[in-house]
Amino acid sequence: TEYIATLIIAVLLCVAGIEIIESAVSRIISPSAIYPEWWMIAVIGCTILLKEVTARYAEFLSARIASGTLHADAWHHRVDAISSFMVIVAMIAGRFGYHQADGWVGLGVALFIIWTGIQISKSAIDDLIGKPPSSEEVEDVRGIVQKIDGILGVHDISIHRYGRERFVSIHIEINASETQGRAHDIAEEVETALSQAYNVEPTVHIDPVQPENPMVQKVGSFLDVTWSKDERITNWHDLRVIETEKHNVILFGVNTSASLNQSGTIACCREIEDSLANEFPSYEVEIKISPLYRF
Ligand SMILES: [Zn+2]
Repeated sequence: TEYIATLIIAVLLCVAGIEIIESAVSRIISPSAIYPEWWMIAVIGCTILLKEVTARYAEFLSARIASGTLHADAWHHRVDAISSFMVIVAMIAGRFGYHQADGWVGLGVALFIIWTGIQISKSAIDDLIGKPPSSEEVEDVRGIVQKIDGILGVHDISIHRYGRERFVSIHIEINASETQGRAHDIAEEVETALSQAYNVEPTVHIDPVQPENPMVQKVGSFLDVTWSKDERITNWHDLRVIETEKHNVILFGVNTSASLNQSGTIACCREIEDSLANEFPSYEVEIKISPLYRF
């Protein structure tokens, strides 16, 4: 609701801006000859000072509470102060006979107000939808988790932010030969490390892998050699090889570049499948594509 309130303030700012433009244009077309007294200019000057002080105070408060609504309100004060300042400029210009200055100043103020409204709504919408994480954030998480003993790989990191709330989920690769108890302990270590670093309760997903399996090693190095330089693929993971009497299957997941569209992704996976089928003809290939914004 806080973000909705911020959005409403932003819309009101834009509406006010448009109204000011209307009256400013009419004053440019038919300027009224007003000779303001100096004392009037002084009074308005004092109110500007007062408003600037309240704006600073509101901004100081909003920095402490980190509230979007208060921040928008601080902007409202700032807009007020700047527009009153421009009114003073117009009044002084009026005393010297430049009567159209009033209208032009009004136009400037209006554009400034609308610009402010757009900025405020942008940041409110970002908070509402949740921004995609920066690559530094993702690498930070990866670095912390990779250091933990028993973790063979980290992938599908997803970080969401809604307002000030943060959600982290992550896949970890653990040797399939580890006991369930050990796997649980490793996952718990990941949870503790992330909650200490980011004050979040992460979701940890365990993927068993078989790094000692010679076929896994073969496929892994083939993927490294053939596909690690392809920019469409940002990461491959969860590589497993299943060999039964009837079926031999190579399974793994890939993360694709965010710039790749759906048909590009499908085409890319087809290429990987074909190259693997060529290299390992007795195996079927199954590739799982991770959703977007997993790293
Ligand atoms: Zn996974």
